[in-house]
Amino acid sequence: MIGVERIEVGRLQSNTYLVYDTSSGKGVLIDAGDEAWKILEAIQKHGVRVEEIYVTHCHFDHVLAIRDLKEEYGCRFYIHRDDLMLLESAAEQAEKFLGARYPEPPKPDGFVEEGDVVGTGAIRLRVMHTPGHSPGSVCYVMDRAVFTGDTLFAGSIGRTDLPGGDLKKLLNSIYRKIFSLPDEYAVYPGHGPSSTIGAEKRYNLYVGEHGVLRREWGGGP
Ligand SMILES: [Zn+2]
Ligand SMILES: [Zn+2]
Repeated sequence: MIGVERIEVGRLQSNTYLVYDTSSGKGVLIDAGDEAWKILEAIQKHGVRVEEIYVTHCHFDHVLAIRDLKEEYGCRFYIHRDDLMLLESAAEQAEKFLGARYPEPPKPDGFVEEGDVVGTGAIRLRVMHTPGHSPGSVCYVMDRAVFTGDTLFAGSIGRTDLPGGDLKKLLNSIYRKIFSLPDEYAVYPGHGPSSTIGAEKRYNLYVGEHGVLRREWGGGP
């Protein structure tokens, strides 16, 4: 069985997800935002071995715990190349937003790109490049679920006013890629509660059937 646990971390309450495979005893993390101790607690609770962290994008609130997890477990972590500059400035972003000093995150162990299939044990994650919130934002598609990072939230969408953000690209990523997934797929976003593709297609305030940005996009699904 494959399980998913949401761990809410840090001042911006970002979600880190532990995806674990009970048959192999292996797991992966989707993002590692802050408060590594909370993430370690969840890993220990499920008694799984975590060797990989897959990052949805490199804003500081999704990567600050990577350094500690790497030290503790030797985890390897992967990002999309187009967010490398953000990763390198993550400590600076954190200082600006939180007013606290953080050490620089380590260098990534590798890159993921559109169409890659990654994972461990029975966990299979297909990489969907979904730029807009940041240039290197990606979603990870699993059997009947998708981790959407800050691209799509329950009822809302990611901001595009930060460096590298682009609303047109974000809308394309949502309508052409994320919304092409089946309605019953669970949506696990980078902040807040989970949802489903069907619910977001209908009720999302920005991109749903009556969403305020639907007309702006103009492309039709
Ligand atoms: Zn973000
Ligand atoms: Zn975030």
